[in-house]
Amino acid sequence: MNIQLLPSSFDGQGQATGDQRLTCYLLDDCVAVDAGSVAIALSDDQRQRVRDIIVTHPHMDHIASLPIFIDDLFASLKEPVRIHATQVVIDSLERDVFNWNVYPRFSELTNEHGPVMKYVPIMIGKEFQVAHLRVTAIAVNHIVPTVGLLISDDRTTVAFSSDTAETQEFWDLLNRTPHIDALLIEASFPNAMSELAEVTRHFTPASLQEELKKLNHNGLDILTVHLKPTYREKLIEELKALGIPKLEVMEPGRTYSW
Ligand SMILES: [Zn+2]
Ligand SMILES: [Zn+2]
Repeated sequence: MNIQLLPSSFDGQGQATGDQRLTCYLLDDCVAVDAGSVAIALSDDQRQRVRDIIVTHPHMDHIASLPIFIDDLFASLKEPVRIHATQVVIDSLERDVFNWNVYPRFSELTNEHGPVMKYVPIMIGKEFQVAHLRVTAIAVNHIVPTVGLLISDDRTTVAFSSDTAETQEFWDLLNRTPHIDALLIEASFPNAMSELAEVTRHFTPASLQEELKKLNHNGLDILTVHLKPTYREKLIEELKALGIPKLEVMEPGRTYSW
């Protein structure tokens, strides 16, 4: 499986930087997990292939350019863009984003080929198929209903925490999965900001270290994501100091393969 954390920040020459302001992963060039930078960071070829987007929760950094992505493709879509999300997230997208005020309600619009956007409700804890991937969504602990994900193809399994603070069912799911190749997990705020991290339900390196004690797997790659750009250097330092084997900060723009 190939996974890219799409870039969301660019320098004066237009080159992607390491700062992650938005969340959007591209899996095997065709499935997106969250949609923060989906309209700004895909190649033309990828844009033509991505028709499935899994949305973990409706926070702006995870959906920012989703409306623009569908707008860009509106005339050329030969099949709808499928938004896979829990019903509560779908309701929020319809009420707060695609509401004819912030943006058009694409779920009610068609082009000459048919509908341009379709919601596919996902059930928590029940495996579903997205393109060639098998996906299980599980509730995590964030300030709005949010799901973590376990995603497998025939050979590889990767877990995504999404945004969360200390949680349990996610780890239970991982611990009953025979093999996991990689865990992509958030580390948003430095240790000195643990209060804000608690209120907004995110991890610091220290709380992440505690949390990882719940994981019964060894030897998997642990890629930290969602580092707030303002504290990126400090976070990198604190994450390194944990001394956890195979834990790295995920680099936006790089393709990781398992
Ligand atoms: Zn969030
Ligand atoms: Zn977020």
